[in-house]
Formats: sequence, C-alpha cells, structure tokens
Amino acid sequence: MSDIIQLLPDHVANQIAAGEVVQRPASVVKELLENAIDAGATSIKLLLKDAGKTLIQVIDDGKGMSATDARMCFERHATSKIKKAEDLFNLCTKGFRGEALASIAAIAHVELKTKEENEELGSSIKIEGSKIISQDFVSTGKGTSLAVKNLFYNIPARRNFLKSDTVETRHIIDEFQRVALVHPTIAFLMHHNNNEIFHLKSSNLRQRIVAVFGAKMNEKLVPINEQTDILNIEGFVAKPEFSKRKRGEQFFFVNDRFIKSSYLNHAVVNAFDGLLEQGSHPSYFLYLKVPTSTIDINIHPTKTEIKFDNEKALYAMLRAAVKHSLGQYNVAPLLDFNRDSNLDTPYKYQQKATSATVPKITVDPDFNPFKEASQKEVHHPSYKREKQTQSWESLYTDVAITDEEKQGNFFHQEEETKTGKSFQIQKKYLLSSIKSGVVLINQSLAHQRILYEDFLESITVKEANSQQLLFPVKISFSSQEIEMIYTIKSELENAGFSFDEFTKDSVTIKGIPTSVTESKITIILEELLNDINLEVPDASFSHFDVMAKSFSKTLSIKTGTHLSEKEQESLVNNLFSCKEPTISPFGKATFKTLTLNEIDNLFNR
Ligand code: ADP
Ligand code: MG
Repeated sequence: MSDIIQLLPDHVANQIAAGEVVQRPASVVKELLENAIDAGATSIKLLLKDAGKTLIQVIDDGKGMSATDARMCFERHATSKIKKAEDLFNLCTKGFRGEALASIAAIAHVELKTKEENEELGSSIKIEGSKIISQDFVSTGKGTSLAVKNLFYNIPARRNFLKSDTVETRHIIDEFQRVALVHPTIAFLMHHNNNEIFHLKSSNLRQRIVAVFGAKMNEKLVPINEQTDILNIEGFVAKPEFSKRKRGEQFFFVNDRFIKSSYLNHAVVNAFDGLLEQGSHPSYFLYLKVPTSTIDINIHPTKTEIKFDNEKALYAMLRAAVKHSLGQYNVAPLLDFNRDSNLDTPYKYQQKATSATVPKITVDPDFNPFKEASQKEVHHPSYKREKQTQSWESLYTDVAITDEEKQGNFFHQEEETKTGKSFQIQKKYLLSSIKSGVVLINQSLAHQRILYEDFLESITVKEANSQQLLFPVKISFSSQEIEMIYTIKSELENAGFSFDEFTKDSVTIKGIPTSVTESKITIILEELLNDINLEVPDASFSHFDVMAKSFSKTLSIKTGTHLSEKEQESLVNNLFSCKEPTISPFGKATFKTLTLNEIDNLFNR
C-alpha cells in the first residue's frame, strides 16, 4: 500500500479557512474594522463599491506594520495578539486567531499600504489568491490602508451566492454600526459608491447612538448605569412608547463585542413588564462588562453567541437594572400605538399636522354592493374590480366556507336588509345579516385588505392619487434610512409620494398618496423601512408588495375605533368589491360567516 495522505498547500488551506471566516462582504468589513481598532486607530474610513463586491477599503491611522509584519500578516495563524494559550482567557483585542487576512488574501485581490509612526517609508504589498504579486517601499502616511477587491473572484459559486446590493449593504451597515456603537471616541466615515453614508465624529456614547440612528433617537433614550462586582451595565433603553413592532435596534455588547443573546434579551423585555404592547419590541443599547475569565469568547469567528459562567445572576441583574432605570426616569406607560401620532413627530412638523384621523373610507351612498358587479364599477370608476363571483372559489384556501356561499348566494342579500345594515361589536367586529345567516367582519383586517388592493393597484397599474402638501414636510432619518428611502424612491413615487430635497439625514416630502394623512407620514415611512429590512430576503424582488402590505397595516383602522353607520357600510361594501375579500394581506381571515343552520344548531344541543 502506498501512502496517500499529504498536507494541503497553503493557498488551498487558506481558501478552505476563508469559507468559514468570509461569508460575504460584511465579514470582510468586520475583520478589517476590528484590525484597525486593535491597531489603536482614532479615525477609521470605510470605502465601498458595489456593496463591497468590487471594493472594500479600510484606512486607519493606527500603529501600522513593519515591512516584515506587512508580509507576515497574510500568513495563516499569524497574529501579534496572543502568544500562548493562556492569553485566550485574558483577551483585550478583537482579533486573536490570525486567520482573517490570510483567508481574505486567498479569495480576493488585496492591496496593503502600511507605515509605522517613526519610519520614513512604508510598505506596499499586492496579493492575489494568496500569491504575492509585488512588495515595495512607498511613502505613505502613518497607519494602514487595506483594499480588498473583487471578493470571491476565484470562487464563482460563492460570488453568485451573494445577495443583491441592497441586502449586502444592509449586512455591511449592520457590522459597521456594531463596531461604531462600541467605540464612540473613534471617528468613523463610511462611503458607498462615493456617497457618504456615515460621518461619525469622536463623541460620547449617547451622541454616537444619536449620530448613527438619527436625531429622533435622542428623546427616546433612558440611561442605565449599574455597577456590581461581577457585572457593569451601561447604556440606554428606549422608552416603551417607542418600542418597535419589529425587532430593530437591539444591541448587547459584552466587553466591547457585539453579541446576540435571546436569554439576556428576555431579561430586558421582562423588565418592561406590562409596559409594552403585545408583539412590540423595545430598543436597547446595553454595554456589559464582565471579568474576562468568566466568559468564553473562543467562539466561531462569524458567530456572535457567547458563553457566560453565571448566566442566571446576569439575567437577574440586567432585569433589575433596566427596571430601575425605567422607574427612575418615570417612564409613563404610554402604550397605545394608535394614540395621537403627533406625539411621535418632530416638533416643527407637529405644528402643521392635523390631529390623527381615522383613515377615510370613501362613501357612496347610492352604492349597493350586493347588486350586480356592473354597478360596483360605478362606485370606483377609477379602477375596475373584477366581477366578484368569478374569483370567489379560489379564495378559500385558508378560510372555511359553506357550499351555499361558494355558490355565490352570499352576495344576494335579502332585499329587506338592503345595503347590509351592520352593527359594530366591541369596536372590533361588524356583524351583518345576510340571506344565509350572519357575517362577522374583523374591521381592521378588512380595512387592511381594502387598502392593500388600493395601494397595489395605484403603485403598479394606474396613476397614483397624489396630494400636494401645502407646506412640504421635512423629516429626519438616520443616514442609512435615507439611503434606503433613496433606493426605493421611484417605487414610493409610484405610490403617490413626491420628494423635494434629500440631505444626509433628512428628506423633504412635498406630496403624499391621497389615502395617507399628513400626520401619518413619519410613521408609515418608518414602518416601511422596518418591513423592508426585515421582510425582503432578497431585494432584487420588487418592493411593491412589501410596500402595499406595510402601508395597509399602518393605515388600517384599528380595533377600538368607533365607526359610524356610513363608515361601516362603506367598509363592508369596499371589502366585498375587493379581488380577494376573504383574507387580509397577511393571510388572516377577514370575516367568518354563520349560516342559519349553524346558528340553529347552537340552540339544539
Ligand atoms: P488577528 O487580528 O486575529 O491577529 P489578522 O489576520 O486579522 O489576525 O491580522 C494579523 C495581524 O496583522 C494582526 O495580529 C496585526 O498584528 C496585523 N494587522 C492587521 N491589520 C492591521 C492594521 N490595520 N494595523 C496594524 N496591524 C495590523
Ligand atoms: Mg483580525
């Protein structure tokens, strides 16, 4: 038998390691930013082209490298940060594996320029797929510039696996924020395709959070500061009334590292105890410091979980600290998301906004939905609904329906009851009598369906119904929110928005869809950005549907809203002139029927 085992050549081993370390451009960004911080930089620039697919460059003013180190740093397991195994338990740097640069150099074109403070000349090295192409002396400033070009150029499968630029940029921004939020004294700059996305000056923690998330954040923050023997907690939670309906700004940092922990998250949520509306999530920025010997940080480089020795104690302390701060700062339990939205809008804008109104439902008193379809078109001359009965059967995928209804009898309401007099129950349901029995309509879900179809129609098919604002409204957003709005600008215009000026952290809006009231502009845009971030797996897919869903959810009349007789009537009418009246845009039943038989059975048991 011959020997068949051999050691893999370095460049192959590096490529394999790269598979673990570098999943996407954002992984490179994280490694390079961390290296710059470990090098003691006070100012760090991140330059990107095409979501990092073409270029990721990090320039720092840190301590730089000697000519030998400039070459060494691309070797596998080459690090200046630990020397022996014990050092692992007393880490004060971000990196320690000595794997990142070797991995990155195996799968990209890399150019390094670096100079130590007291040297006359620096070094410049070019590497392609682990091969050194050139090494020269150059005159350059103190610090390091590392440019990573054409990531995955030699692994087409990985390159093709990358998501759209929007998605990859989102990942990069996530990593950037996680780093920027722990190092408020370091100045950061981020440019993407020559646009400035972040410009963060050296500051304190609160200022940094506000600089990253926009000026609106400032009033939301409640400080936390607790010191104990095994744990220091510093940071902020957002007041409960600003909690989000989607998980958004939730950050834990343990010893200056971003981590995810559903266990600690639970502790925070628990501290809000009764202050949060169901299904909403508090925002928080919590900085925990624990003795390095009580955590195991030696985890997978791209993962963000961490093991604590004394989890239970941490849980209890964290919960107590958050509770304490909420109490101390007298955070009033303002729980209702549906309350006057003026409270949420910036001051300037508030003066102009009218008070929050129930979204209007157009009423056509002559309209009888239960007559033939031809008449329905009169109601909405601007867009044609399909003849109802045709599409009905296909609709009942999720929703149980009786045979009688399937035959279309549902629409033929008894003449005496005409346009379906209905009653509102608990400000939540409408009860209406039909030939075969009764129908119970969920007002909020029904309205979602109506708005959804209206928006979808106006976004995709017809001219949007837009109203010009008397006074354009300037709304502040964080710079990456602005970037996002800018990306979907044309879709928003289709929906009826018109924009004036975009700045780094604000947008001026001069027109809005007719179905939107001025006081709701901020909230519907915020919710939309949230939904896009969290719901679109790959943004090459159009935003139209997400947009229509998001708007309909935000603008729909909610449970608890009183509806006048006319409004009820029109809600019922509009619902049943929808293409798919039976389900909400999110797949829930909008109404249920009870046939006379079923009602009889209730009494014959
Ligand atoms: P690690 O960070 O785990 O040590 P890396 O592969 O990321 O491994 O970097 C290898 C070494 O290169 C580091 O230990 C450090 O000495 C050096 N290095 C990397 N980036 C920089 C930088 N921006 N400035 C100075 N030295 C750097
Ligand atoms: Mg590193």
